[in-house]
Amino acid sequence: MIVVLQKQITDKQKDAIRTLLTERGYTIKEIVGSEETVFGAVGRPAIDLREVEMLDGVASVIPISKPFKLASRELKKEDTIVTVGRVKIGGGRIAIIAGPCAVESRDQIMEIAASVREAGAVVLRGGAFKPRTSPYSFQGLGEEGLGYLKEAGEAYGMPTTSEVVNPSDVPLMARYIDMFQIGARNMQNFELLKAVGKTGMPVLLKRGLCATIEEWLMAAEYLMASGTDQVVLCERGIRTYERATRNTLDISAIPVVQKMTHLPVIGDPSHATGLREMVSPMSLALVASGASGLMVEVHNHPEKALSDGPQSLYPAQFEKLMRDLQALSQVVGRSLERIPRITMPTKGREEGVAPAADHLIVSFQGERGAYSELAIRRAFGEECEVLPCKTFQAAFDAVLDGRALYGMIPVENTLGGTILENLDLLDRHRAIEVVGEQQIRIIHNLIGLPGSTVEQIREVYSHPQGLAQCTEYLASTLSHAQPISFFDTAGAVGFVKESGDPTKAAIAGVTAAKVYQMEILDEGIESNPRNYTRFYVISREENAPAVRSSAPVNRASLVFTVSDRPGSLFEALLVLTKHGLNMKKLESRPIAGKPWEYSFFVETELGDEGAFEVAFDELESICKSVRVLGTYTSTL
Ligand code: PEP
Ligand code: MN
Repeated sequence: MIVVLQKQITDKQKDAIRTLLTERGYTIKEIVGSEETVFGAVGRPAIDLREVEMLDGVASVIPISKPFKLASRELKKEDTIVTVGRVKIGGGRIAIIAGPCAVESRDQIMEIAASVREAGAVVLRGGAFKPRTSPYSFQGLGEEGLGYLKEAGEAYGMPTTSEVVNPSDVPLMARYIDMFQIGARNMQNFELLKAVGKTGMPVLLKRGLCATIEEWLMAAEYLMASGTDQVVLCERGIRTYERATRNTLDISAIPVVQKMTHLPVIGDPSHATGLREMVSPMSLALVASGASGLMVEVHNHPEKALSDGPQSLYPAQFEKLMRDLQALSQVVGRSLERIPRITMPTKGREEGVAPAADHLIVSFQGERGAYSELAIRRAFGEECEVLPCKTFQAAFDAVLDGRALYGMIPVENTLGGTILENLDLLDRHRAIEVVGEQQIRIIHNLIGLPGSTVEQIREVYSHPQGLAQCTEYLASTLSHAQPISFFDTAGAVGFVKESGDPTKAAIAGVTAAKVYQMEILDEGIESNPRNYTRFYVISREENAPAVRSSAPVNRASLVFTVSDRPGSLFEALLVLTKHGLNMKKLESRPIAGKPWEYSFFVETELGDEGAFEVAFDELESICKSVRVLGTYTSTL
């Protein structure tokens, strides 16, 4: 049952409820949600719910209708985020687990770890105890393999997972890995589930070959009832009469399971299909259907693999898949989980000023919950601190004087165009460099007070652009409501909250709803879903190396001026052409204090090795001035 506690409950009342239910044989789990705190009470005994309802501090009691209790969405409405080392699985992230089917040697796992990490995988997999169909097949290296897996994980900064097949191996494995994997064949090995659950460690639970979704969730319930709440479900294909693929990927299981449980669900396209060429298309399909991640088998020499070679991707195929996933994740409004590279910068230059911040703070313009904050979360994760600033200038200032290590600055929106003010600020602040780039899809939501409904809404507040981008929705679904301009989207949510009026709503992003603990009444209400904003990550130039991603730097932003004569701009652009540099953006801006003179902003790909440096030297010789604003990794 779910015991919903009153908001003003005292600790004493809480203890009394807990004691009574425990005495009656229930196990209690406290779940603190954004709107309410509940006790999940699970166990065999029968108790008259009215008896619990009468206790002081209890708001209501709801029976859980599903046979799985701790795993059910009824008990916990918010998504569970599973933490594996420094990596998070669940929520708006897509976490990619990759590695060989089995650890075969130290060199093999080291080489594969290096390539999957470089491509963007966040958890390293590798079997050490292999449950093989034939007793004559390779059974895994056992503890020796676990040692190599751990070493590779540590060398490349990745948490690890490996399959456990025997309850007696649990303590040994717990010393080597960060997440247990329960294989399809063992999904209903209840003694194994209990032994693993008791560790409290994260577990990846594969769906059994012939298991229904309910049986799969009951297996998760075993893990949770034994003591862990860190369970990731993994759809890996089920047995059907179809033999064209090794198994049949039950893709609709992803949205079905998400409705039934708060636990994250990922997909394994490798075991589902058994065929290398099917792995990438099914990976994309899984992410498109809402999976919180993938587990993909990758091998440096699949043709020589001791197990599952035919379904293992070559490293180059995996790298291509990661690029496709990067593009797709933005379309579905999520982001690929990355291993944070939050290392404090060392003083790069003699004259450098060390930042005052002793941990990661990122400045942005706007109120808490603004789209810029969403971009910060995507780039730096949930742990970093954000510093909201009133103006773009103030966000730059915070970076300049060391209150923030980085700033997240919008430069361009696919519908609204370039944010010119920020180009000017970049030009003006010589000590600031562009060190990264982040794109987010702008998904507008109708946000109201918890409990209010779309039909109730009479006034809708948002930034004029937010309103303009939702005109179709406002004219149809919300024709009964009046649109009212507000100075920013997140601020509008704060305003509606403060008003306490259930007939008011705001249009803003999901982060604003979260920050203000408000309810999303309708999501994705923008008229044009191809609405993206691109941000620059800025920092003082001496801190620039710290934020660079492991992916190669492939783009430069620069600003130059040319003399006032025919063809001067053309000649400058010709330099880029001559060196094979693909120009991605060109803007002109008036130069302050010099009427009718202009600076030109260019973004260019870096081309072949050394090409940009040579082109830059040439630009210096023909332009009046030229300056690189920054070089960084672009995924666009
Ligand atoms: C594996 O991940 O290598 C494996 C054996 O998977 P499954 O349990 O899904 O067959
Ligand atoms: Mn395998």
